[in-house]
Amino acid sequence: MKKTVKNLNKLYASAFEKMTKMSEFLAKNCVDHALDFHYGHRIKIGKQFTNELYPIPLVRFKLKGIKTESFFDVYTKEDYIGYIKLYPSKEEILSLDLEVFASLKYLIYGYNYQQELYNSEDLNQTKNNIEKSRDTKFIIYADFANLEQIFSVVDKFIIKPTQSFSTANYKCECGHYITIDSDQGSCPVCGKNSPFKRKFKAKCLVCQTVCLKDQYGNGRCQNCGWTLDKFANRMKSRVIYPNLISLNKAKKLYRENKHLKPDLDDFLEAFEFYGETGFEYKNLMFCLFGHGDDGIEMSWGPNDDEVAYFKDKEDFIQNAKIDNEYLRDIWDKVENPGYL
Ligand SMILES: [Zn+2]
Ligand SMILES: [Zn+2]
Repeated sequence: MKKTVKNLNKLYASAFEKMTKMSEFLAKNCVDHALDFHYGHRIKIGKQFTNELYPIPLVRFKLKGIKTESFFDVYTKEDYIGYIKLYPSKEEILSLDLEVFASLKYLIYGYNYQQELYNSEDLNQTKNNIEKSRDTKFIIYADFANLEQIFSVVDKFIIKPTQSFSTANYKCECGHYITIDSDQGSCPVCGKNSPFKRKFKAKCLVCQTVCLKDQYGNGRCQNCGWTLDKFANRMKSRVIYPNLISLNKAKKLYRENKHLKPDLDDFLEAFEFYGETGFEYKNLMFCLFGHGDDGIEMSWGPNDDEVAYFKDKEDFIQNAKIDNEYLRDIWDKVENPGYL
């Protein structure tokens, strides 16, 4: 048995490597995708199909909204390492530039009847055939000889991303390994929302309003602005990330009908907790960083080239100035205090 597993691993290693490269390629282009296996693959040796059924790795994703699968075979030849399948509707296939497949060995057939082949040497003829057909769903099937070939086909259909890499990988409850482009993504196989998108009901610790939190307990109360945090309840009178005031003070402010805005003391306590905070004043950003043991560095200016140093929190409260005014006197006019 051990030997069988060893042999199988050896046999599948190269197909797995290609599947991983495909996954990396899609992640770089921010295409949501899932890793899976396909079990109904029949082997064709020479011109003969044999009935040996064996699973092959595949990657599922969507191109221009069309369900797409790329399969990486274990049985390879010089001009064949696997194939790609797209499942477009009639409208979708007519809108695709089929020229993209011209350099590959490809077939277009109906999804339901699977009798006729629609592709011909002449692309216009191909489109004609599709337009006239009674099929409403199609399959585009193409063999590929190497990864570059499939990358170039996929690349032509990708809607170019604005960001540079997919944001999250996780194992879906349906068992597939998923890579998604944004926190809002969902599983391309079963459609279930990603754990980052899924929300759970929670009660705001400050105002008791029912709000939503994610799997990590993070979220924001729409009523009072408190950021949900599972540690806040354990350190009620301390300022801890991600809030800028303590839970007890937030409750007090809320009772008094006041905004949950940190005073200078709260802000500096947040700084001591986290090490990097900032605020805006007259459209300029001011950043605080640690300096030495207890020291504080405050930098600002268009290129952060204005700098002032303070030996500790007390020194900062007493002496930090902006335009000849003490920060403590103008703190009420400061905007967007927060963590950096
Ligand atoms: Zn799933
Ligand atoms: Zn609240």
